[in-house]
Amino acid sequence: MLPALQKLQKFIKLEAERGYDNRAVLGGLDKIIPLWQQEARENGVPEPLIQEVTRCLERYASLSPEERADCLQALLEKIDVPESFGPTDSTPHETQAVNIAPTPTVNGGRNRGPRRSAPRTYSLSTDSLPAHGLKAPLTVLPGIGPRYAQTLRQLGLETLEDLLYYFPRRYDDYSRLKPINRLRYGEEVTVIGTVQSVNNRDTRGGRLNLTEVIVSDGTAALRVNWFNQPWLAKSITPGMQIVLSGRVDMYLGRLVMNSPEWEPLEQEHLHTNRIVPVYPLTAKVTQKMLRRIMYQTVTFWAPRIQDYLPEWVRQAGELVPLSHALLNVHFPESQDDLKAAQDRLAFDELFLLQLGVLQQKRAWQANTATIFEAPEAWLEEIIANLPFELTNAQRRVLEEIRQDLRAGRPMNRLLQGDVGSGKTIVAALAVAIVTRAGAQAAFMAPTSILAEQHYRNLLKLLADSERGTPVLPAGNIRLLVGDTPETEKEEIRAGLADGSIKLVIGTHALIEDPVTFANLQLVIIDEQHRFGVEQRAALRLKGHNPHLLVMTATPIPRSLALTIYGDLDLSVMDEMPRGRQPVETHLLSPLERERAYSLIRSQVEKGYQAFIIYPLIEKGQNDETRAAVEEHERLQREIFPDLRLGLLHGRLPPAEKERIMRAFRNGEFHILVSTSVVEVGVDVPNATVMLIEGANRFGLAQLHQFRGRVGRGNAKSYCLLIPETNDDVENERLLAMVETNDGFVLAERDLQQRGPGEFLGTRQAGYSELRMASLANVHLIEKARRLAQTLFENDPDLSHPEHQPLRLNFERFWQGGRGDIS
Ligand code: ADP
Ligand code: MG
Repeated sequence: MLPALQKLQKFIKLEAERGYDNRAVLGGLDKIIPLWQQEARENGVPEPLIQEVTRCLERYASLSPEERADCLQALLEKIDVPESFGPTDSTPHETQAVNIAPTPTVNGGRNRGPRRSAPRTYSLSTDSLPAHGLKAPLTVLPGIGPRYAQTLRQLGLETLEDLLYYFPRRYDDYSRLKPINRLRYGEEVTVIGTVQSVNNRDTRGGRLNLTEVIVSDGTAALRVNWFNQPWLAKSITPGMQIVLSGRVDMYLGRLVMNSPEWEPLEQEHLHTNRIVPVYPLTAKVTQKMLRRIMYQTVTFWAPRIQDYLPEWVRQAGELVPLSHALLNVHFPESQDDLKAAQDRLAFDELFLLQLGVLQQKRAWQANTATIFEAPEAWLEEIIANLPFELTNAQRRVLEEIRQDLRAGRPMNRLLQGDVGSGKTIVAALAVAIVTRAGAQAAFMAPTSILAEQHYRNLLKLLADSERGTPVLPAGNIRLLVGDTPETEKEEIRAGLADGSIKLVIGTHALIEDPVTFANLQLVIIDEQHRFGVEQRAALRLKGHNPHLLVMTATPIPRSLALTIYGDLDLSVMDEMPRGRQPVETHLLSPLERERAYSLIRSQVEKGYQAFIIYPLIEKGQNDETRAAVEEHERLQREIFPDLRLGLLHGRLPPAEKERIMRAFRNGEFHILVSTSVVEVGVDVPNATVMLIEGANRFGLAQLHQFRGRVGRGNAKSYCLLIPETNDDVENERLLAMVETNDGFVLAERDLQQRGPGEFLGTRQAGYSELRMASLANVHLIEKARRLAQTLFENDPDLSHPEHQPLRLNFERFWQGGRGDIS
């Protein structure tokens, strides 16, 4: 580096260490100007840079410490930085720690290759920075002492790198300036003007301090108020030109601005007059302060960040360079730059996620598993003895499962099938294949109602001697739920441990209990999104690499499924058993409720039953939402006094819920009033009406689940949706329910409208680390997936030398348990 610049850096560094007291040079920094200018010109430093340095140093004495810091940092950024801080051969461990190792990208080809020189001493403020690089603590920044660093730690900010990845919560686009006489009430604007007067006073008996400033820009004057910030009266002085950004308010018929962002006009319009980042904050940290820190750090570091993505991935993905993205996600020059930055950062998350999922799948497939072969004739006989013919979809999925079972690798399959598509029977056939060979199977459902329903179904399917030879003796199939009597539990445990029980069906009691299996080879998990990752893993660990089949009735859009379940093989049952009539769906206005009631009455008169669903258990105060408890009472008293109404909600003890559900299934109630607890898998073939109140409060996927509770018999069934208000937009959304019975279509719409929360269930925990990516961005997900796949095929372990930066980032992304998928 040129000696003049080196010298300047040294002065700046010294000054920063002193806290910008203008005493790094005897008599003040401006004293170096004449000599420095001369040397700089001799060295050939570009004239504009010399002028800029001169300008900063000339006015340096008159600046506040904050402004001094800004001004000197700006100079540092202008000075070329030809050498990197690392990675160097002398500090190999830093290459590990600094994930995005800065390399000389600034200087073209001049400094290719690692340098053996010691890290340079140039820094933001102290010598510790070069040694630590991006891992340096925030205290290396000017103006951040240990105490403030402690405060920032509450935001999860400990290192410079944390700052780079601390993304704004939102942006205020102040990039359009307006003259004061054209302001309109309610708009967000930026105004530049001259302070006419400043008045600070206590009002409301001293409870409120008001700083009132009149600003004029030649077109008009504007009153600006700040509350309880009396110190502002000292910083804002008459005659000063300031920039204000905020919302235009109205007070007593006049336009005003209340507590806008402001700053003196001279400064780089860091907080105003551009697209301004708004960061998540904590008490004691102001936007202004954080932005200043961010600006220093980001503008300095972002350009020095090496892009760890292989160039071809960046090209193929049409992604901006990482340094560009990091710069623009904090301080975007335009909306387009911002969008490109967000896309790039989101892509990275999805890409790393995908790579991990692919590795996980490979690791899983490296295990060996017991091979189960079912003789064709034996299986066909079982199928022939079923009370119905299998659908083509059921046949196809069964075939996929059979292949998995004889592959010698553990099956890891997700079976998606719309409600009523007949997943249980497919699972039952898998059980038959495995237990035929003497091994054990476990079938876990999220509620005891469901577990019991499965138990009875599986008994019928596998142990009914009236239809041919039973696959299993009834005694070899047991039900284990929370309130199974202790003595029976003990008996079941013993039977599982000695291998005499071949199939156990249950709730999470299967994993909570000290249950052990003699030879568990097949694990089936129904409504799997209702379980946590750990719960599924816990059951799987009861065997040694058992085959795993997870089932869900929530259709998940394919792109999403591939992302979050990319480690699983996917089976889709997209066909309903024959003879199933689509449920007739109507969207009613709240005023048409009587029609719904009369339909229910007429169906009950024909011997059928009905569900009425409410979003809440009990009404909160000031809440118009109809709630199950109150409505149950009202319906019983006023609408259906002659009918029997049951009430089901999540606050009832499990045994009570079960009793009520069983009673409804046995026809003891005409109508079941319920909250969403009824949603999952419950089968009451005699129910033909599903009335959903407050329908606007539910996602389409969930509404579709409710609808799936009816239409399970052969009678014509109805689904009636009543939103709380007649809101056109909301009704538009709900109309999708009327238009289609296809769960996948609805899931797709839900994903677009409400994001992926509905589909993730507890699995979401593992995805909370996605800071930028939205799982609703199907296009980006697919791109990331495609490119990850290509990379994985070429270099699955990321062992190629050119993939080392990527590998470091990958490992960091996946550390901390995120990888714990299914
Ligand atoms: P889901 O996929 O929602 O779990 P189930 O397995 O509970 O669906 O099946 C729903 C109903 O359809 C059950 O009563 C089941 O006996 C019946 N069923 C399953 N397969 C067929 C089929 N191929 N033909 C006719 N009915 C079927
Ligand atoms: Mg089911």
